[in-house]
Amino acid sequence: MIDRRIALLQEEGITFKCHSNVGKNVKISDLMRQFDAIVLSGGSTVPRDLPVPGRELKGVHFAMDFLKQNNKRVAGKDFLVNADIESNILSEELLATGKNVVVIGGGDTGSDCVGTSNRHKAASVTQFELLPMPPKDRTDIMPWPTYPMLLKTTTSHEEGAQRHWSIATKQFIGDDQGNLKALKVVDLEWTTPAPGQPAKFTEVAGSERDPLRTGFVGYGICAPQQAGLLEELGVEFDNRGNVKAEEGKYATNVAKVFAAGDMRRGQSLVVWAISEGRECARKVDEYLMGSSMLESKESSILMSFQ
Ligand SMILES: Cc1cc2nc3c(=O)[nH]c(=O)nc-3n(C[C@H](O)[C@H](O)[C@H](O)COP(=O)(O)OP(=O)(O)OC[C@H]3O[C@@H](n4cnc5c(N)ncnc54)[C@H](O)[C@@H]3O)c2cc1C
Repeated sequence: MIDRRIALLQEEGITFKCHSNVGKNVKISDLMRQFDAIVLSGGSTVPRDLPVPGRELKGVHFAMDFLKQNNKRVAGKDFLVNADIESNILSEELLATGKNVVVIGGGDTGSDCVGTSNRHKAASVTQFELLPMPPKDRTDIMPWPTYPMLLKTTTSHEEGAQRHWSIATKQFIGDDQGNLKALKVVDLEWTTPAPGQPAKFTEVAGSERDPLRTGFVGYGICAPQQAGLLEELGVEFDNRGNVKAEEGKYATNVAKVFAAGDMRRGQSLVVWAISEGRECARKVDEYLMGSSMLESKESSILMSFQ
């Protein structure tokens, strides 16, 4: 299905250039010279680190290193060779087989780590989330049609995982050889100072403990890679480190440069990436042509039939 879709896009006149890491083996200055508009849609790829003691221990890994390598393995590709194209080069094989795995982070990325660890036949899989356990149904503070923050149990969880909420990791503990052997964690108590204000947490006194013996740990990601392409371009960033471009306009502070998807809104969902791609395409069309007939949320040909 993907091949068919790519062929359709090619027939429409789109040229795909693979193995092109803009800012590394493709110069952004060349693109700025050759093209009339540029859309930044490079996703959200920089891992959010967990700067606690023991972070450097063997057995502590970023989720995306683990998942990306596994995708390549499953696809029959050489998962250790990345040449110069990719920024994150790994020289070791990451396998959870026979290990007691802790996944730090309770979102979609964490869920994928749970599933992958189970497929690797990990000895056990435990997932820690900082936030409290969400409700199973909508509450008064999330009425329809607002986005509900509900408990999500994926097929990965169904394959097996112990899930814990309101828990923070304070330290990674190693053995004499520098291998991870335990995690020091603490329970959190969440309170909302007043309705509408952000919730705050405090550590529960006396709840510190070391719940892991041998280990393999993965955790999530948050911001686009600023070094290289984005810094060279001189685009501004918002306070979360994403490319600054207003929703509905998609234009950055740099003339003829637009941004959409995770690179603009931060790590999000596929439906948003699709929506932003379409909306941004219209804005680029308007910029180039003065007007646009492309479908968008604000303007649709279907509206003229209503
Ligand atoms: C592990 C994981 C699990 C997820 N699970 C879900 C889920 O279950 N449901 C859901 O809706 N969403 C999920 N998401 C989120 C979803 O994948 C993203 O929101 C979506 O893919 C964003 O689309 P995008 O086009 O903005 O960026 P991406 O899909 O990240 O695409 C960006 C592309 O740009 C390329 N790129 C980056 N920099 C450069 C450069 N300098 N030069 C050339 N190319 C570059 C990257 O290689 C990548 O191919 C998940 C994300 C992750 C990481």
